[in-house]
Amino acid sequence: MIRNLARLSDETFDAVVIGGGIYGLWTAHALTTRGFSVALLERRDFSGATSFNSLKTVHGGIRALQHGSFADTRQFVRERRALATLAPHLLRVMPFVVPTARHPVRNRTAMRVFLRAYDAVAADRNHGVDPALHLPPSYTVGPRAARALNPLVDPDGLTGAAVWHDYQLHSPERLAIALVRTITEAGAAAANYVEARGLLKHADRVSGVQALDLRTGASFDVRGRLVINASGPWAWQLLASCGIPVDRSSGFSLALNLVLDHPPRPHALGGVSKGRFLFLVPWRDRSILGTSHEGFVQGPDPSPVPADISALLRDGVEAFPHAGLNPASIRLVHRGLLPARPAAATAHGALLKRSIVRDHRADGVPGLLTVAGVRYTTARATAQQAADLCTEILGRPVTPPALAPLAGAAFNGLALYRQQGQGQDRFVARYGTLHTELPADGRDPIAPDIDVTSSEILYAIRREMALTLSDVTLRRTDLAAGGHPGADALRAAASVMAAECGWTTGQTADEIQAVERELTLETPAPSARKPSG
Ligand SMILES: Cc1cc2nc3c(=O)[nH]c(=O)nc-3n(C[C@H](O)[C@H](O)[C@H](O)COP(=O)(O)OP(=O)(O)OC[C@H]3O[C@@H](n4cnc5c(N)ncnc54)[C@H](O)[C@@H]3O)c2cc1C
Repeated sequence: MIRNLARLSDETFDAVVIGGGIYGLWTAHALTTRGFSVALLERRDFSGATSFNSLKTVHGGIRALQHGSFADTRQFVRERRALATLAPHLLRVMPFVVPTARHPVRNRTAMRVFLRAYDAVAADRNHGVDPALHLPPSYTVGPRAARALNPLVDPDGLTGAAVWHDYQLHSPERLAIALVRTITEAGAAAANYVEARGLLKHADRVSGVQALDLRTGASFDVRGRLVINASGPWAWQLLASCGIPVDRSSGFSLALNLVLDHPPRPHALGGVSKGRFLFLVPWRDRSILGTSHEGFVQGPDPSPVPADISALLRDGVEAFPHAGLNPASIRLVHRGLLPARPAAATAHGALLKRSIVRDHRADGVPGLLTVAGVRYTTARATAQQAADLCTEILGRPVTPPALAPLAGAAFNGLALYRQQGQGQDRFVARYGTLHTELPADGRDPIAPDIDVTSSEILYAIRREMALTLSDVTLRRTDLAAGGHPGADALRAAASVMAAECGWTTGQTADEIQAVERELTLETPAPSARKPSG
């Protein structure tokens, strides 16, 4: 993975993808694997925006089936399975427990029938999947067993629980890096900290992007036969800035999670507040409460106000009264804007039903496509649609290739590989087979009680395009992705980076401050955290 800006400015690509979130990355992957030449531009770091903030659930479509959509449910099942084939080491099986009650819909009998139907729809969920990731059948249990599965289940009115399984992504950021590595190995050119500032046009057709290297301030052009706008919530701003008509009645739903310093339980727990489901999900050594969809905003910058955060915590307390959730345990606030339906102005942030793959020929702007969606899980499917459309526009028919594991994911039995890893489990879970590339020196933790080594930091800088302390601590290693790791750990990581990158004392202090700011920005000030009810 090399940040090769000379290539970006020298070549003419089949497609220039704007945005290194999960939608842009899968789109670049879908095009590269079909043999197209691709440039990918990300103005911050890969997976540094909405995609960083996901609850990390790889959904199997239970919710879609509840809403009666067989086709959507099947898409979730297929995509969950595809991810298990493409990057098994980054996933783990996550059991979900949802209490049942004397309720017209959420009663035990209805849930049993529903889960049977779901399992039938998802009967092929394990086809071709590594046995270590096989998802067991869903089931219901009685009240005592429900409490045994997760003691936080509220005994009040409890009749039992419904139990199903999905996957959890340990780190969406590591999936992003696996994708960047895969596409660059297949010939794509990718760079972080390069912003698309405008569109190039030739004979009324979009012919590339005016780009700005945010590290040096240098401007350059990236030429492409097609430009794909996958810039997440910024997609509409980009279109408007290029004079393309945008429907102003559409907006965004602000989605929030709270990362809590709360002991993780083996099962994710569902609970209801104000008629909507929330989950308390174990993740690493923390729990995440989410996801709330608050209100309707014009966007595109996701800045929750303390009232949004307090409201989510209050709902969490209502949904999980025995969990002892409190403001002091908030370590990080995940937030992002997801495209909402126009009706959301009155319907409380209702998300877009279908992903968007728009060919702007319809707006009189040939050569430009916009790709966006509301689910991390199904981003790959949307990317395949976008790639189909590109194939048609470029007039070079290709058969979509069979699923092939991403870089670092070609295992011949994940469980066996882990066993043979002899103490390398943590590295396998992050790097897959590529853990063998980690430099041999610096295998000790950078600070006491911190599970990150200098070796990982050096690898991030040398091989994974990490340019800032934020890249290293939030998106390459596990150091700060769950909240502030402590001043000593941050300083230790910074000093490894400073030695490798030749930073001065002043630069190092600036880098530390930038991460501090980022983490403070993600977390409300203590005085603002108190729930109002
Ligand atoms: C709190 C929360 C919880 C969620 N939980 C789940 C979940 O559990 N499961 C699930 O399936 N989905 C979940 N989602 C949804 C999922 O995270 C999003 O659908 C997905 O991450 C959106 O990805 P994206 O690539 O469209 O956007 P982004 O990740 O925002 O990527 C867009 C990228 O474009 C870049 N960019 C913008 N403008 C430019 C420019 N001019 N030039 C270059 N680059 C540019 C940005 O920097 C950004 O990195 C959740 C979302 C949120 C917010």
